[in-house]
Amino acid sequence: MNYTFGVDKGGTTIKIGLFDNEYNLLDKYDITTVRNIDGSQIVIDTVNKIKEIMEDKKFSYDQLSGIGIAVPGPVKNNFIISTANINWNNFNVRESFEELFDEPVRIVSANDANSAALGEHIMMNSNSSNTVLITLGTGIGGGIIINNKILEGQTGVGGEIGHVPLDEFYNFECGCGRVGCSETVGSARGINLLVKYHLSEADGSVITTRSSAQQIFDAAKSGDEFALKIVDIYSKYLAKLSNTISVIITPATIIFGGGISKAGDFLINRIQEHYLSMVSFDSQRETKFKLAKLGNEAGMYGAALLLK
Ligand SMILES: [Zn+2]
Repeated sequence: MNYTFGVDKGGTTIKIGLFDNEYNLLDKYDITTVRNIDGSQIVIDTVNKIKEIMEDKKFSYDQLSGIGIAVPGPVKNNFIISTANINWNNFNVRESFEELFDEPVRIVSANDANSAALGEHIMMNSNSSNTVLITLGTGIGGGIIINNKILEGQTGVGGEIGHVPLDEFYNFECGCGRVGCSETVGSARGINLLVKYHLSEADGSVITTRSSAQQIFDAAKSGDEFALKIVDIYSKYLAKLSNTISVIITPATIIFGGGISKAGDFLINRIQEHYLSMVSFDSQRETKFKLAKLGNEAGMYGAALLLK
């Protein structure tokens, strides 16, 4: 039996998954780190943990197919350009890991959102080679898979779906410094901004400016008219985002993940309905809309699958 490790470096934890030949998750481990820790210490801690697991599971370097590493920042050809919260800037992740092992180990690295897209793409088993993952959280993240490969782009930031210019009506400010990016209307923050903007129409609604995205969806599901209006505006923007992506790359599947995707089919069906009213070509109608399956393990799965 051969083994693969998938490592996902998050804000303060490093998730390590141990996978078999078929990329079934056998075991998972967490290492907790502190923010802004020295990057090289993270490499040492991770490698030590992996060695410990190998010893514990009694397998040798011959049985180790490799280690995939997902990191929060742009990655180009295993070279990390910059990262949030850790000092891994202009950092050769492959070499830094390789030199700490006693024998040669195959190391591959990619951006975490792109890794998550790869994880969802492969584990979805859809027989298609083109997938887009849209992660709906505080912001919007995601990744683009073309011909079963991550689209890194020229500078490692391919798939910055959260900053597709989308809105010219509300003009909410984006963290990137511009206005109207998809995440200003399509993220958890976006849905709150929409509530604030339309608050004068909220008579008789349970929704307030402090309502969470989940509360807004729950209210909409139980027929709250104001919540339904907000969800409709929100879904329309995500449909527009899907259509923008679709006319360029025509993915077979668009997968929605992240906290807001817990709203489930109620949300996905609305997005798809609006999407179908926007498409230019019949071929775009074939794009399937699905919910992500791997949750917060997608990055770890995707990291391991980088070695596939
Ligand atoms: Zn932006």
